[in-house]
Amino acid sequence: MKKVGFFRSIHLKFVLIYVLLILIAMQIIGVYFVQQLEDTLVTNFKTSLHQRVNLLAYSLKEEMIKERDEESPSLEEDVRKLLKDFKAADISEVRVVDSRSRIIGTSSQNKQDIIGQRTTEILVKRALAVGQDYDRVFIDPNTGHRIWVLSSPIKSNKEVIGSIYLIAKIETVFEQMKVVNSILASGTAIALVITAILGVLLAQTITRPISDMRKQALAMSKGNFSRKVKVYGYDEIGQLAQTFNNLTKKLQEAQATTEGERRKLSSVLSYMTDGVIATDRKGRVILINEPALEMLNVSRETVLSKPLIELLGLSEDYTFEDLIQEQDSVILDYSTNNEPYILRANCSVIQKETGFVNGLITVLHDITEQEKIEMERREFVANVSHELRTPLTTMRSYLDALADGAWKDQEIAPKFLEVTQNETERMIRLVNDLLKLSKMDSKDEALTTSWIDIVSFFNRIIDRFELTKNETITFKRLLPKHSIVIEIDEDKMTQVVDNIISNALKYSPEGGQVTFRIIEQEEQIVLCVTDQGVGIPKENINKIFDRFYRVDKARTRKLGGTGLGLAIAKEMVLAHGGDIWATSKEGRGTTISLSLPYDRSKEDDWS
Ligand code: ADP
Repeated sequence: MKKVGFFRSIHLKFVLIYVLLILIAMQIIGVYFVQQLEDTLVTNFKTSLHQRVNLLAYSLKEEMIKERDEESPSLEEDVRKLLKDFKAADISEVRVVDSRSRIIGTSSQNKQDIIGQRTTEILVKRALAVGQDYDRVFIDPNTGHRIWVLSSPIKSNKEVIGSIYLIAKIETVFEQMKVVNSILASGTAIALVITAILGVLLAQTITRPISDMRKQALAMSKGNFSRKVKVYGYDEIGQLAQTFNNLTKKLQEAQATTEGERRKLSSVLSYMTDGVIATDRKGRVILINEPALEMLNVSRETVLSKPLIELLGLSEDYTFEDLIQEQDSVILDYSTNNEPYILRANCSVIQKETGFVNGLITVLHDITEQEKIEMERREFVANVSHELRTPLTTMRSYLDALADGAWKDQEIAPKFLEVTQNETERMIRLVNDLLKLSKMDSKDEALTTSWIDIVSFFNRIIDRFELTKNETITFKRLLPKHSIVIEIDEDKMTQVVDNIISNALKYSPEGGQVTFRIIEQEEQIVLCVTDQGVGIPKENINKIFDRFYRVDKARTRKLGGTGLGLAIAKEMVLAHGGDIWATSKEGRGTTISLSLPYDRSKEDDWS
């Protein structure tokens, strides 16, 4: 926020308000006071002159009605004497006029020549005619000063016998007023200066806490809650400052709580195995956790504020509104030809009480494994049904033929019965294999292990096969001369090795050689059986350990295989803590190897 300049500050405003209030008050007082003073002064001035004029009028009346003889001085002479005494600083001139408007005396020495002339003054004429006082204020054209003119009738027994015409210098009153005005003006100026100074000081008491609070609010907006506003007093502003401090504390606590919650949420989100994506109300991504980034194989920078629909690749089938309405989970299939990859997205709407949609939370769950298992299960059931149907169909057709009369035929009947017997055996083998697998799967069958010499164990099995093998096939044993004692379940390992050797014999060509090896390694013993048979195509090499997998389905079925032998072998080797794998060159032979854990120290103990 910008710093507030002095000319826009509340401080200056306070001072200006003070000064303006004082100015207005002084103006009102000044106008009223000056008006009243002027009125009073003017009235006093007029009243005092009126009284003097009345006194003069009485004296003049006496002179004017007096009987005169030849010795006695003339009226003009008496009037002159009277006017001589009637002198004052504020009186310019006094004239006396008789009832016929003839001037009979004037107080002005230089205007004695007007005596005897008729007056033309309107006010005098009016006073003579009406018998009342008339007065008026004029501006003297010669001096420019204000003068007050009064015409007062001289009455004798209610009869107007003349008039006094007075010219007074009322300007003195106005000069006094000027002085008073200037005193008032300078007083106002002094009052304003003092008010301004006091205003600056007093305003500080109000503005300082406000300015403190402003600074604090600025600091708070930057996340600094450590400051405190100083409380100067316990008036409203003091209370405001105190409340502000309380508010800061509460806000700090709230901020800490929010921050804590945020941290908790973010650690929950990042330690979750499911992916979580949150959007705003327009469907743009505002939050995404690490697992979601990994699942979608995107970076956080490219994803934030991107539409969710676009991110999930649902633009073609869905709009954001559809996702909000969607009750079920949405399956996202990102599988490629080589690799299945399926995610399940569950959407839940963030809604206000009013029903206003605030955003959407999408939880992503990797269901590839689940789907794989499901697929395998379906495949397994299909395979089992298929494997059982083939011998059953064969048996039914042979049994049908026998029932139709073939049993009477001495030659055919035994052959047909032999076929059905073979098929039955094959089915028994298959069912037994399945049972074994199921036992291995459910981990029902624990290993019954014992310490045996693997070299003699291997030799014994090879010897057994040597008796039954095709004569053209030769065996080559590359086995250690010393004994190697390891802990195995003899029965199960016999089944495994039997299966491997019988496969090698099955797929060996006429005159082929089968080589047996035992390789002693640091922590394991590896048994290898190599033949010179058809081999296995590279792309299928790892699949041969899958259930029911056969490279050449027609041929191996003919050889009596169930397609479960190596799958069972693998389960058994894994149960021993070992591994089994195949290497092959197509057309040149196959090597099946299996490793078993080997602990020299234990062997020493045993021996
Ligand atoms: P089966 O009972 O059909 O032999 P296995 O599980 O033992 O089933 O073997 C699975 C498949 O692996 C066989 O059908 C065969 O195609 C292939 N296979 C196994 N051993 C060999 C081998 N030594 N040479 C060539 N192919 C083999």
